[in-house]
Amino acid sequence: MKRSLFPLLVLCLCAIILISYLFSVDLSKASNTTNNTKEEYIYKEELLNLGYNIKEIKQIENKISKKNVKDYLLYKKYDNLISFLSSPYFKIENIERYESYYKNNPNYWHDQVVLYVQIGLDQEFYTNIKDINNYNDVTALVNKYNKLKDEIEYEDLTTIEKPYSNNGNEKIRTVAYETLKNMIDDAKKDNIDLFVISGYRTMVKQNNLFNNSVKNNGLSHALKYSAKAGHSEHQLGLAIDFNTTNPNFENTKEYKWLKMNAYKYGFIERYPKGKEIITGFAFEPWHYRYLGTNISTKIFEENITFEEFLIKYSSI
Ligand SMILES: [Zn+2]
Repeated sequence: MKRSLFPLLVLCLCAIILISYLFSVDLSKASNTTNNTKEEYIYKEELLNLGYNIKEIKQIENKISKKNVKDYLLYKKYDNLISFLSSPYFKIENIERYESYYKNNPNYWHDQVVLYVQIGLDQEFYTNIKDINNYNDVTALVNKYNKLKDEIEYEDLTTIEKPYSNNGNEKIRTVAYETLKNMIDDAKKDNIDLFVISGYRTMVKQNNLFNNSVKNNGLSHALKYSAKAGHSEHQLGLAIDFNTTNPNFENTKEYKWLKMNAYKYGFIERYPKGKEIITGFAFEPWHYRYLGTNISTKIFEENITFEEFLIKYSSI
């Protein structure tokens, strides 16, 4: 009799173990849910206390992770947070910078503030400088925040022969040479006379140019028109100056042709009029930069700078 009860006892024991396991799972789930609700409730309460309303808190919850709310938003109220949130380029870690840049530039749109801060424009030019390491890429960015650390010995530099350059000594990276010649040839068919007066520059050459500009024109002029060594696109071998560096070039038919056509050959006007605040350089109608036709077309069509392009489409 005792023996025949044994399997039944084992079965009961198994059932008890199984039931208590299932219960424990359920219980732990339940306690998790309680924790989450409690956590959300705490944030809602704290955000309400800071002065955000329910609608704003919903927007915050939709766009910002719980961890980031906890890390960035529970200490003080940000007056323009909700407006900044609508920008696709918004990054929570820069919220302080957006607020303070907007305070200094109240005439800017909120999404303009976000974009400009992402470019770095809330920092003084020639501060927070990063050394770039993608100097071989056609899309390498060199400006007042990004520089080449050392002299780069490019192996694919090509001499721009006459009459494409005025002296037959200027150089450009091979990737941009054929299209440059095509552009100059096609321009000629439209009775437009284009030639390169400055192409690739070494670190030493750029340094001398900047120092001479300071000597001849003063520091503030030099800072607007010339780049410090390491900060010039000419050092990438992808930038060229056409015809003359006289500001009157703006009024020539050559400039007008370049402005409307250079993008078809992969070049962009790099320092346009009205964009000085973004590029950090004065309007230079003669300076063009090779980026390839995909990017140059986008930049032309949207009338944006390379800096703006990189924030908007950096995944391309
Ligand atoms: Zn130039």
